Amino acid sequence: MVRVLEDTLRSHAQRFGQEGRGYIAPARVNLIGEHTDYTGGLVMPMAIGFQTAGVISARTDGRAVFYSANFDEEVAIEIASLGRQPRGHWSDYPAGVLWSLLLEGVAIEGFSMSLAGDVPLGAGLSSSASVEVATAMALLGHAGASLPLERLAKGCRRAENEYVGAKSGIMDPFVVAGAVKHRAMLLDCRSLQFDLLPLPESIRVVVCNSMVKHAVATGEYGDRRDEVEAGQAVLRDRLGIQLLRDSTLANLEACREEMTTASFARCRHILTENARVIAAREALLQADMIRFGSLMVEAHASMRDDFAASCPEVDTLVEIAIDQTECFGARMTGGGFGGCTVNIVQAENAEQFVSALRREYATRTGIEADCFVCEPSDGAFALAGQERAINSLEHENRSVGSI
Ligand code: ADP
Ligand code: MG
Repeated sequence: MVRVLEDTLRSHAQRFGQEGRGYIAPARVNLIGEHTDYTGGLVMPMAIGFQTAGVISARTDGRAVFYSANFDEEVAIEIASLGRQPRGHWSDYPAGVLWSLLLEGVAIEGFSMSLAGDVPLGAGLSSSASVEVATAMALLGHAGASLPLERLAKGCRRAENEYVGAKSGIMDPFVVAGAVKHRAMLLDCRSLQFDLLPLPESIRVVVCNSMVKHAVATGEYGDRRDEVEAGQAVLRDRLGIQLLRDSTLANLEACREEMTTASFARCRHILTENARVIAAREALLQADMIRFGSLMVEAHASMRDDFAASCPEVDTLVEIAIDQTECFGARMTGGGFGGCTVNIVQAENAEQFVSALRREYATRTGIEADCFVCEPSDGAFALAGQERAINSLEHENRSVGSI
C-alpha cells in the first residue's frame, strides 16, 4: 500500500478512535495545453506519483469533522446547516466538495475525515484537485454511492469555483480522478471526451519547482481569464463564434481592432496552443519525442510572450533545461507566474539532467529548485480499484482524434 495512505489510516485511528476507510488521489502535471481548458479547448496532462490520502469513518452527531495533517488542524461543520460559507481556509476545499456532493443529491451522514498529502502546495501540481478528489472519493465511499468520472470531476470543479472561489477548470479534477498509468490523457474540455496516449518507456518526465510561489485564487490568473473572456466576447458579438475553440487565427485577426492588445495576444496563445496539442498527440502516436519536445518549447514561448504568464525564474529554468543534450523539451506548467516546469528527458540521463539543472539554476538565481523524476501514474478511480469504470469510459469517449 502507498505510504501516505498507510500513515493516514494509522493516525486516523489514533485521533478518532475508529478505523477508517482509505482513499487516495494523485497530483498531476500538464504536458501541454495551458490555459485552454476554460475555453473548451484541449489539454494533455498526466497523473504523477504525489498523493493525497483521505481516510473516513462514521460519527453519530451529524457533523463533518475534517483534519488535515498538512496543517495539523481540525475543523467541524454541521452538515444539516452547511451553506456556501467559505472562510478563506484550507477546509474550504473539502467542505466545498461536501457542499457540492450534497447538491448532487448524494446523502452524506456524519463523518470524521483525515487528509494528508505529499503534494507540494501551491506549486502548480494541483494539490487542490488532489485534496478535492480524495475527499470526494471518501465521501462517496462513506455514502455507499458512486458517480461517473465526468460528474465527479464537475462536482469538484464546482466546489473549487463556487465554494473556494478559484477560477480553475475541469482538467485538474478530471485527470486526477481518471488518469491511467503509463499514459498521458488528451482531454477535450468541451465534450469531455478523452484519449489515453502511450508515453515511451525510454523517457522520464521531470517536474522542477522554481520555488517561486503564485496565488491562483486571486491576482493575475484571474486577470488572464478576464482578458480571454473579453476577447471571446468580441468574437461572439462580431462573428457569432461562441467559444475561442471554434475560431481561426484569421477570425481573431479580423477582430483585432476591437480588442485590447492584451486580449488579442491571450486569445492567440489559446488558438495556437490547441493546435500544438493536436500536433503533440500525433507526435506521441509516432513515439517522436523530438517533435513533442519542440512543441513544448514553442508552447513555453507562447505562454511567456502572448499569455504573459511566465516569470524570469521559470524562463531561466526552461533555458537551462533545453541547453542540456538529454532534454527533448521543457515548459512552464500550471496556471503560471512561477510554480513548476515540466521537462521530457531520456530515462537513463534523468538524474544527471536534474543535477545539472539544479546546479545551474542555483548559480544563476541563488534558488535551490526541487526536482522530481515522475512516471505517468494512475488516477483515483484506478487506485480505488474502479479500473472497469475507467475502461468503459475510455471506450465510450475515445474519439478525440476526430477533432
Ligand atoms: P495547487 O493546486 O497548485 O497546489 P492551489 O492554491 O490551487 O495550489 O491549492 C492549494 C491549497 O489546497 C492549499 O493552500 C490548501 O488550502 C489546499 N490543500 C491542498 N492539499 C491539502 C491537504 N492535504 N490538506 C488540506 N488542504 C489542502
Ligand atoms: Mg490548484
